[in-house]
Amino acid sequence: MWCWGLESCSIKETEHQKRHEVGAGTTGRAILQEMVQNEPTSDAHALLNQLVAIRADLADEYAQPHAYPWVIGFSGGKDSTLVLQLVLEMLLELPPSQRTRHVHVLSNDTLVESPIVQAFVDETLERVRLAVKDLKLPVTVAKTQPDLDQTFWVNLLGRGYPAPSRTFRWCTDRMKIRPTTGYLQHLIAEGGKAILLLGVRRAESAARARTVARYDNGERLNNHNDVANCMVYRPIVELTTDDVWTVLMQVRPPWGGTHRKLVTLYRNAGGGECPFVVDQADTPSCGTSSSRFGCWTCTVVEKDKSLEGFIKVGNEHLEPLVDFRDMLQEYSRDRSKRMEERRNGQASAGPFTMAVRRELLGCVRELEREVGFSVITDAEIERIEAIWREDESMLTRRQAKRLLDIVQDT
Ligand code: SF4
Repeated sequence: MWCWGLESCSIKETEHQKRHEVGAGTTGRAILQEMVQNEPTSDAHALLNQLVAIRADLADEYAQPHAYPWVIGFSGGKDSTLVLQLVLEMLLELPPSQRTRHVHVLSNDTLVESPIVQAFVDETLERVRLAVKDLKLPVTVAKTQPDLDQTFWVNLLGRGYPAPSRTFRWCTDRMKIRPTTGYLQHLIAEGGKAILLLGVRRAESAARARTVARYDNGERLNNHNDVANCMVYRPIVELTTDDVWTVLMQVRPPWGGTHRKLVTLYRNAGGGECPFVVDQADTPSCGTSSSRFGCWTCTVVEKDKSLEGFIKVGNEHLEPLVDFRDMLQEYSRDRSKRMEERRNGQASAGPFTMAVRRELLGCVRELEREVGFSVITDAEIERIEAIWREDESMLTRRQAKRLLDIVQDT
């Protein structure tokens, strides 16, 4: 039975799934072809033809006469999962002698990701890591994270930045774009160029369609907006959301198991995800009401529907995270919690006062006790305390200068 759409699909294990394990021997294409034979609807044929074309396109790009590495931007969501699956299946179909190009599976952890989603992503990455080793594929699985100096807690508790908002979204660049850009630039420095594969689709949203159209040069590869010598390849750009789910629900991944857990995750979280953000043009899609698999601390959205969804289905232990996030939002909007000038000395709502930063760190420690897992690292706390010392001495200097100015004026 073909399943069109997440809501309507019963996600039953099909006979095809029971009989086939995708791996070194059997490819997803073989299963889909068999399904089309059993269920020859025009929709099924159209999707199969699209997948065959995408696979041919991937194989053709992979066979180009250069060695620029491929980097798959992997968020753990449905779209990047499908891209990863298609690439691994394409590699498996090639004789080992032709698997000459190295592929990197790149995931970014902001360190404040939704704990349930991050556990799932880590589990998938580990499965992929083991599978590519067993299958002897030229694939590296990598995970980036923000620099210690730029984590969520170091900026919020250390520098006193208010929680991110639509007007002051300081997080996406520091916690997502810079770490992945650093990884890409390192590869580019070594090999001259890199090709970034993204699971971006025109049908995701009107905003996404506009972004795709703006940077579409009519070629298979487009220049990355911000990273020189990086080309962007969007192999599934024309697939619909139903297409993606159909494939994922009918075909097992080459790293073993099924995609059932992914489907359940989406169902519990209410369907949205924060995509793999690679440049400033993508920033607006991070932390919007349609992006629900983001940081649990995200205050750019009014409500964290994904976390609330996970709590509703039995993860009550995460409730304190929602309360803490709401408190952050309230504190950030309360002028009495903020300094009267910015860090650069300009008169305006500034960072949290030193007392509020200390109070919030205490709340984070209490939160850890309530949820039973670590939320902040010792290295972050050390860095935060160092910034407090610097800020306190800067404030003392500013105050002394003001007093001196007053004395000189009188
Ligand atoms: S999910 Fe929210 S907090 Fe996290 S990077 Fe995106 S906008 Fe910032």
